[in-house]
Amino acid sequence: MLKLDGATVRFRQRAALDAVDLEVADHETVCVLGPSGSGKSTLLRVVAGLQPLDSGRVSLDGADQAGVPVHKRGLGLMFQDHQLFPQRDVAGNVAFGLRMRGASRAEQAARVGELLDLVGLPGAERRAVAALSGGEQQRVALARALAPSPRLLMLDEPLGQLDRTLRERLVVELRSLFGRLGTTVLAVTHDQGEAFALADRVVVMRDGRIAQTGTPLEVWQRPASEFVARFLGFENVVPATVTGTVAATPWGKVPVPSGSPQGEARLLVRPGGVRLVPARDGLPCEVVSRTFRGNHVALRLRPGAGPLLEAECELTASPQPGDEVGVAFAAGGVVVLREG
Ligand code: ADP
Ligand code: MG
Repeated sequence: MLKLDGATVRFRQRAALDAVDLEVADHETVCVLGPSGSGKSTLLRVVAGLQPLDSGRVSLDGADQAGVPVHKRGLGLMFQDHQLFPQRDVAGNVAFGLRMRGASRAEQAARVGELLDLVGLPGAERRAVAALSGGEQQRVALARALAPSPRLLMLDEPLGQLDRTLRERLVVELRSLFGRLGTTVLAVTHDQGEAFALADRVVVMRDGRIAQTGTPLEVWQRPASEFVARFLGFENVVPATVTGTVAATPWGKVPVPSGSPQGEARLLVRPGGVRLVPARDGLPCEVVSRTFRGNHVALRLRPGAGPLLEAECELTASPQPGDEVGVAFAAGGVVVLREG
């Protein structure tokens, strides 16, 4: 449905988008994830037609969009800084795109009612937007973006300003809503939790380039590079020399999955790959700290050599700070990373 070929945007010398190739299929939700300044908003602005390309191409349904103005691209936009019109009521905001299209009053009213039901604000037509909570305003903005039935809905940090609990709830609602509507969605966020909860496919960006693309599970289980691993919050990354299914690391020998790249590499051990065993049976470590994380405890361990290790264990089995434990590594939690 959407296709970018070598999309490049330069501001002065620097490429904000550097030869990006990306495809989004019909009914797919793709989430672009990356740190601030990695080019996420520029990518959306290019697709919307708000930012011209220096080179490359944007196509929608096979048609090159060069020269096609923003309002002719059939897109729904919901940006973080995309304010609602404060002087209009909820219905006036939601009907905006329909008015632009010249829909009749009756058509507008019917569509607005349908959308307010959809976003969980039935009967809110006459409410003043200034009197709505942050979450309600977000729903109105979503209804406004969806009202003209866009072929592609684009969201830029849509839930960025909301508190964590509300954000987590809205993400779940959005995902189920997009599933029911069959909407095609391109969303960008710096929040990995949001991206992973919302997306069919995640695209991780770094300095205007795509660092990795895959399903949330693929990216989570097999980050392609140290950059992606660290961006996802993984900290157990060390230099290693891989020989067969064993890696020599600062923590000693660590098993790696068969088929892993050989030789000098960076190695990730996901916290789930760090098993606690009696101190004499594994790598001896001192427990530095423990943090409750809902259904498990996150531990930081100090081995005799090498950097601190992040581990996870069950609530009831958790050792105390200061305890001596042993660590064994499970190959299933180990990933040999690409350079970069
Ligand atoms: P993100 O949305 O991932 O935070 P942006 O796409 O906003 O990143 O920005 C990517 C890079 O391009 C940044 O280095 C930013 O400073 C730069 N940039 C974005 N817009 C402009 C602009 N209009 N003029 C100059 N530089 C810009
Ligand atoms: Mg941005």
